[in-house]
Amino acid sequence: MYEQERQDLVEKLRQKGIRDERVLQALLKVERHLFVPEVMRPNAYNDVALPIGYNQTISQPYTVALMTSALNPKPGDKVLEVGTGSGYQAAVLFQLGAKVYTIERNTKLYNRALKLFDELQLRIAVRCADGTIGWEEFAPFNGIIVTAGSPEVPVRLKKQLAVGGTLVIPVGDKKTQVMKILKKISEDEFETEEIPYFAFVPLIGLEGWKEK
Ligand code: SAM
Repeated sequence: MYEQERQDLVEKLRQKGIRDERVLQALLKVERHLFVPEVMRPNAYNDVALPIGYNQTISQPYTVALMTSALNPKPGDKVLEVGTGSGYQAAVLFQLGAKVYTIERNTKLYNRALKLFDELQLRIAVRCADGTIGWEEFAPFNGIIVTAGSPEVPVRLKKQLAVGGTLVIPVGDKKTQVMKILKKISEDEFETEEIPYFAFVPLIGLEGWKEK
């Protein structure tokens, strides 16, 4: 279903500057319409963020493609995602052959993602918790991707990244963020690149924003 729409979307992403063929092929395979509420399905292949309930969103496909290209996960890499939301980004990482660990703080979204991963037979580990503290048990990760806007880069996530690994995270105020791409050079050394500007829902937790 929606095959033509998916192809058109991928073509649009190519035109917008996404060059990573592996990522484009993954977006061609993952059925975004299965990750949005039923009423939103006709809009699933527009390049926009969509509401998924509980004041949360599924990210814009362009943003998913850009962040995934920046993370550049290789098959077999252990990747942590903070902010499962709809589960779409996690499914794209799984499609790329990564071992995916994803954390969602909202119980309802967590339950929905758990069920969907099971139905789609995606072997993705999901946890309902505050992802700003990471997932120590499975650290270190080759890649960490945070899909909510943070005031700063959580120290625990930097610690749980393997040397040689990449951490992708939007950092800024509650309205606008820059995408930070940190490469861990040694235990306490990072090279950082920044891409402006993005608008994510807030990352709420111990090393994120405080809940109101
Ligand atoms: N990656 C998601 C997708 O593919 O649909 C989009 C994520 S949505 C923009 C951000 C998500 O982060 C929301 O579901 C929100 O509940 C979650 N979130 C916010 N703070 C969090 C935290 N500290 N730990 C885990 N999840 C968090």
